[in-house]
Amino acid sequence: MTPVVSAKGLGLTYRTRESEVVALSDVDLDIGKGDFVSFIGPSGCGKTTFLRVIADLEQPTSGSITVNGLTPEEARLKRAYGYVFQAPALLPWRTIAHNIALPLEVMGIPRAEQQARIARTLALVNLEGFADRFPWQLSGGMQQRASIARALAFDADLLLMDEPFGALDEIVRDHLNAELLKLWAATGKTICFVTHSIPEAVYLSTRIVVMSPRPGRVIDVIDSDLPAERPLDIRETPEFLRLAARVRDGLRAGHSYEES
Ligand code: ADP
Ligand code: MG
Repeated sequence: MTPVVSAKGLGLTYRTRESEVVALSDVDLDIGKGDFVSFIGPSGCGKTTFLRVIADLEQPTSGSITVNGLTPEEARLKRAYGYVFQAPALLPWRTIAHNIALPLEVMGIPRAEQQARIARTLALVNLEGFADRFPWQLSGGMQQRASIARALAFDADLLLMDEPFGALDEIVRDHLNAELLKLWAATGKTICFVTHSIPEAVYLSTRIVVMSPRPGRVIDVIDSDLPAERPLDIRETPEFLRLAARVRDGLRAGHSYEES
C-alpha cells in the first residue's frame, strides 16, 4: 500500500539574507494509512517545519517527499489534509459554525453540504449545541475542539496537528487526549501530531518519532505495542513507562549529540 507520507533524505534549510538555518536534515520516514504518529523533540528541531512540508507550505531543499503518492502540491490541491494549529486561530467575529464554514465556502462546497459537515464534525468533537456561540464564549479547550472540527470538515484522510493542546492545562489536555483517541478510532484517519509531552506522545501514538535538536534529524522511531483501547490509567502500566523511558533516552541521546 502507498504510504500516506513518504520522506526520503528530506532536508530543509531556511535561507535568509543574513543566515542559513538547517531545520531538517536527512529525514527518512514512511507513515502508513491509519497510523497515529507523534513527533517529539526540543523546541526548534523542525517539527513544525516537517508538517509544513507535508502541507506544501514550505519546499524542501533536498531529498523528496510524497503525500498519498503525490507531490505535496498535488496533494494540497486535492485537499489531502486538515491542519490544526497550535493556537485555535478562530475568527472572533464569526460563530463556531461560521468559522468551520469559512474554508468550505472558499472551496465552493454547496450550503447544504456545509451544514451537514458542520453538524457532523461538531458532534465528533462533542460541541453539539455550540454552533451559534462565538469563540470568546468558549473555554480554551472548547476552542481547540472547534478548530479540530474545522480541520475535520475538510473530510481529508490525513490530519496534521501542531501542538494542539500545548496551551491547555493538564486536566483539559487529558480529557482531549482521550477524546482524540476515540475520534481517531471512529474515523480511521492518519494523524501526524506534534507535541512536547512524552506522556501525550506515548498515550496517543501507534508510532513515535523522536527528533534531535537542530538540525532536526530522526533519532528513533518507536512502534508502540500498547493496545488500541487505552484508558487514561494505562499511563501507570509498566508497558507505558517502558515506552516513555525509551522516548526520554532518545531525547537525551539527541542532546549529547548536539553538545559533543
Ligand atoms: P519546532 O516546531 O520543532 O519548534 P520549527 O520547525 O518551527 O521547530 O523551526 C525549526 C528551526 O527553523 C528553528 O530554528 C526556527 O527558528 C527556524 N525557522 C523556522 N521557520 C523559519 C523561517 N521562515 N525562516 C528562518 N528560520 C526559520
Ligand atoms: Mg513548532
